[in-house]
Amino acid sequence: MTDAFPPPDAFRFFCETAERIRATAKRLEKALFLGDYFRTLADEDLVRAARYFSGYVFSARDQRTIHIGGAALIAAVTAASGAEEALVRTRLVALGDIGDVAGELHGVTEAVPGPSSHLCLSEVESFLAALAVTTGTKQKILAVTKVLRGLSAPEAKYLVKLLQGDLRIGLKEGAVEDALARHYQVSVGEVQRANMLTGDIGETALLARQGTLSTAALRLFHPLKFMLATPATDLADLARQMPSDGFVVEDKFDGIRAQAHLAPVAADSPPLHGTEINGKRVALFSRTLDEITGAFPDLLPALAALIPETSHQGFILDGEILPVRPAAGKALPTDILPFQSLQPRLGRKTLTSELLARTPVAFVLYDALFSDGRILLEEPLNVRRAALVALVVDGQVIRRADSRVFVGTADLDQEFEAARARGNEGLMVKDPGSRYKPGRRGREWLKIKRTAATLDVVVTAAQVGEGRRSRFLSDYTFAVRTSETDPTLLNVGKAYSGLTDAEVQELSDWLMAHTVQEFAHGKVRTVEPSIVFEVTFDRVQPSARHKSGFALRFPRILRVRQDKPASEIDTLESVRRLAEADGAALD
Ligand code: AMP
Repeated sequence: MTDAFPPPDAFRFFCETAERIRATAKRLEKALFLGDYFRTLADEDLVRAARYFSGYVFSARDQRTIHIGGAALIAAVTAASGAEEALVRTRLVALGDIGDVAGELHGVTEAVPGPSSHLCLSEVESFLAALAVTTGTKQKILAVTKVLRGLSAPEAKYLVKLLQGDLRIGLKEGAVEDALARHYQVSVGEVQRANMLTGDIGETALLARQGTLSTAALRLFHPLKFMLATPATDLADLARQMPSDGFVVEDKFDGIRAQAHLAPVAADSPPLHGTEINGKRVALFSRTLDEITGAFPDLLPALAALIPETSHQGFILDGEILPVRPAAGKALPTDILPFQSLQPRLGRKTLTSELLARTPVAFVLYDALFSDGRILLEEPLNVRRAALVALVVDGQVIRRADSRVFVGTADLDQEFEAARARGNEGLMVKDPGSRYKPGRRGREWLKIKRTAATLDVVVTAAQVGEGRRSRFLSDYTFAVRTSETDPTLLNVGKAYSGLTDAEVQELSDWLMAHTVQEFAHGKVRTVEPSIVFEVTFDRVQPSARHKSGFALRFPRILRVRQDKPASEIDTLESVRRLAEADGAALD
């Protein structure tokens, strides 16, 4: 193969298209460039390219992950480029993206000549698959370094961007859906609907090409994305958003969000996920779409028992896993324990029966997405609720969230206090006519949390503490996202209180290993933005010190949110609203 005529599946074309898309701010142009490129690809490459342009290395519902952090990517880029590490770090600060640094520094030294060999998209896929099964950071760095050395500069740049999980060219999955709709002349709604069901933009792209979007089917035991909620700033805000003739109010449970897939065991080949129990198949998925069935063996028999004997199809249910007081039963419904009580069970490889008995859980159901063969995603909440009500729950291990209809906001203050007294975090307010929108944070679900406002933020830098904590990175600078669509992080504060010594020590080790840049002999470090904190504070005030323009006054860390990825933290918009509301969520 010569350089002059690379085939359409060359990764080089992908990179060229990405550059064209990056160079324009116009959504329409981005879509046209993408459509032109898609046209040239064979089916299997269309699937790959659609995933890669959406920032996924694998199908979104694939359980494989690459798990390569920023620090490892920096190490690989340094080794592959032959540049000094200090130069790599300086350029990283200037460009803000390790992929861009990889492209810029590629082959800067004599030792690494700019090669002309080319990867094709299927080779990119094989490489990613191999990397997913490579264990150990060292081995991963070696594998990435080796591949980068054989690439041209644009290929190195985009491979690193892919590994980082975001190409940063102003394109998100939604824009890829748009481009598919435009190119294959179908409505965006059709593409979105199919994509919601397949859970894989690659497969969706292929259906769009084949004109078979309407055949997209929901698959049991493949997780669907979760619908999310927006914080309500005050009651007036809530009244504006919700229908005047009534809205649904539920407690906001503070546990682990989970999606249960249940089905009678089919005779044909068993699906990838789930466990067989009492002749039924059951799987649980977390909000990051990882399978967590193994972490809750004590929920499985009760979940299996939810399937009526007359049912031939399955169910998909949405809810929250909560820690409850041991020997629950009599004390209901106030046996719910604080989230922290779940900690001893999390991250354990083996769960002894003693531990399970000491930390019992309950699954509170609040939505039904699929009910014995019926897809309910596009049905209004009250229809989905009716499907949930039709299930026979035992009321202890499996519970149904109490759902109350309110007209007007007059009694909400009292209801909020009652929810708190029941051991819950606050209230969820839902529009009864709203559909279930997987992966979207809409205004159809509003959340009201503690009276003191909280924000979910990501740690961007850390510094050693004082006194007892001088050996640990224990002062944390944290940031919010610019917006839902712009992942640029903006710092809003710094906190050092709220965690236990053991938590500080564990975090410190992690932050050391995931440092991006060191200052003051390692006493101050910028770190990979991955640790999510829920913080509370006295108020939000304008500040010239942070780029965000705001600072939290007296912030305190409430907890480390292991269940929440950095892509789902709060945005500058939430900070601004809180600043306007003067830091109170309910007054
Ligand atoms: P947050 O985690 O603060 O972004 O709030 C949204 C989360 O509240 C959801 O992801 C759920 O895990 C949780 N949640 C608790 N109770 C409910 C409920 N009744 N309905 C929906 N989500 C709930």
